[in-house]
Amino acid sequence: MLTTSRHRLLICANIMPVLAWSVLAKTVLFGAVLFGTVLFGTILTPSIALAAPKEARHLFGATAKPTQNRTAAAYGSYAKGCLAGAVRLPETGPHWQAMRLSRNRNWGHPDAIAFIKTLARKAASEPGWNGLYIGDISQPRGGPMISGHRSHQLGLDVDIWMRRAHNLALSKDARESISSVSMRRKNGAFINKNWTTAHHNILKAAAQDPKVARIFVFPGAKVAMCNTARGNRSWLRKIRPWWGHHEHFHVRLRCPKNMASCQNQAAPPPGDGCEGAQAWVNDILNPRPVDPNAPKPKPRREYMLKDLPRQCATVLKAP
Ligand SMILES: [Zn+2]
Repeated sequence: MLTTSRHRLLICANIMPVLAWSVLAKTVLFGAVLFGTVLFGTILTPSIALAAPKEARHLFGATAKPTQNRTAAAYGSYAKGCLAGAVRLPETGPHWQAMRLSRNRNWGHPDAIAFIKTLARKAASEPGWNGLYIGDISQPRGGPMISGHRSHQLGLDVDIWMRRAHNLALSKDARESISSVSMRRKNGAFINKNWTTAHHNILKAAAQDPKVARIFVFPGAKVAMCNTARGNRSWLRKIRPWWGHHEHFHVRLRCPKNMASCQNQAAPPPGDGCEGAQAWVNDILNPRPVDPNAPKPKPRREYMLKDLPRQCATVLKAP
């Protein structure tokens, strides 16, 4: 608008006396519009922005520290909740290293931290393994995240890398730059040559922990475990095939005992789940034709603070 007006003014300069009133009127109008834009753009808009409620993921994502002096408590459900009294997984321990430290997601409920330490010790007994590389747990106060996961909000979900952890002296920089390793072949229908008996044993040990509710891993891994499992197969029920999860597996712990504020997910269906996993693999290998009339999935709405359990506002504000 500014360029056009100026351009016009230059063209009109030699017939100024004739159009003087018209130009004057335009200039006044232009000034009024400019004033209005400045007033609205500079003064009014930021006050509107300040008043608008922020998405919960920005509020929780900006929190650098856990609540102080509060008993650990998870509020809500795995994909819609928060955590008070989080404990930090030390960056390096005797049998583990926390990865991607810049994300500040190595916080969890004490049950999760204890679980990691126990499983990491078991992993260290596998040939060639000295422990585990631990991916995301939760933010210091749990809650939704700016990037990545839908769940991991209660401090009870843990991502564990499937890359063999033999070097537990990785620098902080190395833990930002190195990646895990994929275990899948054919889009997740099969395991690849990186998968070892150690992977089977570590996932089995995790599933046998009574505090564990579920473990998510790609379908081909579940089927491979179904095929090699011997003896009691009840632990297989907790190994759930899921999308992705070929570079890490995801352990979900049950809500801590006597914690009414924490909402468990319904138990997996009875049985070892091997048939279902095989059916998923078959679908990967022979995809069903896409239904052109299928309703499009609705885009997800980001949660506001008021969408979370009411205690989460307190958790966010607490010192
Ligand atoms: Zn995860």
